[in-house]
Amino acid sequence: MRAKLFSKLSLTYLLLLIFLCLVAEGFAEHALQRAAADPASTDALISGLRLRFVLSAAAVIAIGAGVYVLFSLQCNRRIQRLTEFSTRLGVSESRPFSLDGPRDELSQLAEAMNASASRLDRTIRHLGSERDRSSAILRSMVEGVGVIDAQERLVFWNAAFSEILNIEGSAAEGRPVIEVIRNTKVLKLIRRALKGEDALQDDITTGIVQLRMFAVTAAPVRAMDAGQAVGAAPTPSGAVVVLHDVTELRRLERVRQDFVANVSHEFKTPLTAIQGFAETLLAGALEDDKNNRRFIEIIRDHATQLARVTNDLLKLARIEAGKLEVDLGPVSVSDLIEACAETTQLRAGRKGIEFEADIDSDLPPIRGDIRLLREVLQNLLDNAVQYTPSGGKVHVEAAVGSKDVTLSVVDTGIGIPLADQERIFERFYRVDAARSREEGGTGLGLSIARHIVETLGGKLSVDSEVGRGSRFSFSVPKSS
Ligand code: ADP
Repeated sequence: MRAKLFSKLSLTYLLLLIFLCLVAEGFAEHALQRAAADPASTDALISGLRLRFVLSAAAVIAIGAGVYVLFSLQCNRRIQRLTEFSTRLGVSESRPFSLDGPRDELSQLAEAMNASASRLDRTIRHLGSERDRSSAILRSMVEGVGVIDAQERLVFWNAAFSEILNIEGSAAEGRPVIEVIRNTKVLKLIRRALKGEDALQDDITTGIVQLRMFAVTAAPVRAMDAGQAVGAAPTPSGAVVVLHDVTELRRLERVRQDFVANVSHEFKTPLTAIQGFAETLLAGALEDDKNNRRFIEIIRDHATQLARVTNDLLKLARIEAGKLEVDLGPVSVSDLIEACAETTQLRAGRKGIEFEADIDSDLPPIRGDIRLLREVLQNLLDNAVQYTPSGGKVHVEAAVGSKDVTLSVVDTGIGIPLADQERIFERFYRVDAARSREEGGTGLGLSIARHIVETLGGKLSVDSEVGRGSRFSFSVPKSS
């Protein structure tokens, strides 16, 4: 580029020199003509000629210098503008730049810089939107995500992370994790990840009143160092910690374990009894006319209990799998109560309990499955009779609401402690397990009843007081 500028200046000088030669030639010619006409004035002519030549040369040099200065000034100004533009590029200025002046190497350089600037601008925008998107994803994640740098400072975390680990405000940014994270298990995992250990996992529990469990995963962030040997394991430049809420998962795991333990227990007791009495009979009691019949009756009772538990379990499994057959239709409330009243009357009478069904005959019909509703009501009535001592009372009542009818089974029995009232709807939960088993209970009746009522669009609840009695109520939508 400089060569071309120089050649332009040289051309200007050449033209000026030609001009000087032409002027000198003109002067010389004129002087020769005068000398030929007047030989005496030759000396004066030569010195005049020399003076003119010197003056002309001085004028040519002055013009040349002027042109050079002007040209240099313009050139310097354009180079300075280019320099300023490239400096602005460094601070992500991306406005297009136009360089005035002739179309030369400098204007080509300006065009090339403009093209680079717009490419740079596109790349920066792309990276910026990528970063915004990743950050929006991380921030909206339900999992807690935190990033720690090699100096153990917290550099990024999302809302879930700060909520789980109780990190206050943005003041935590850049602060050592030891000052902002109080959970020692998490701190240990961070340190191990920063040392380069992979696939680190642990469980933590947070909260005091309401416990929540989180699976913590920590992993090193590895960035390849420029000076690092090829093939060498990159040193961690930080660590990422992810906190995943596993409260519900762990609860379900516990429910499943409890369930397996409960089922085993429910089966074990009658099976042991059956096995024991069968062996006793075989060992000679079969010939013992006094006891053999009693032993066989015991075996039969335990087998019946086993069949009951098995049936209830199968029913529950069917309901929970959504395979309950439901035949919806209008059901008359008085028909429903009548269907259960006879059996209840019989059982209550045997136990010396007064039973009463206080039902209006003009109650609106409800929408449900008579077979399933009967199962629910019979279960509640059986429980009421079972947990009411003789001399007590059991009665059924119905209340009509705007959208549904609520049926209640009320007894004056032993009642249920407040702490157990919600748990009695869990599978196998009994307030007094021995008593329930003795009476042939499976601990599954209320669980099945609640599932059925909910499948039919209603609710089953209990209100009870120890020593005074219980009220089990379930609502069923009115038939439209
Ligand atoms: P079970 O076969 O043991 O009766 P349920 O699921 O029907 O099983 O009932 C669960 C537990 O709820 C019972 O073991 C009993 O402790 C309690 N319970 C149910 N109904 C009553 C009631 N009317 N009065 C007192 N306790 C009751």
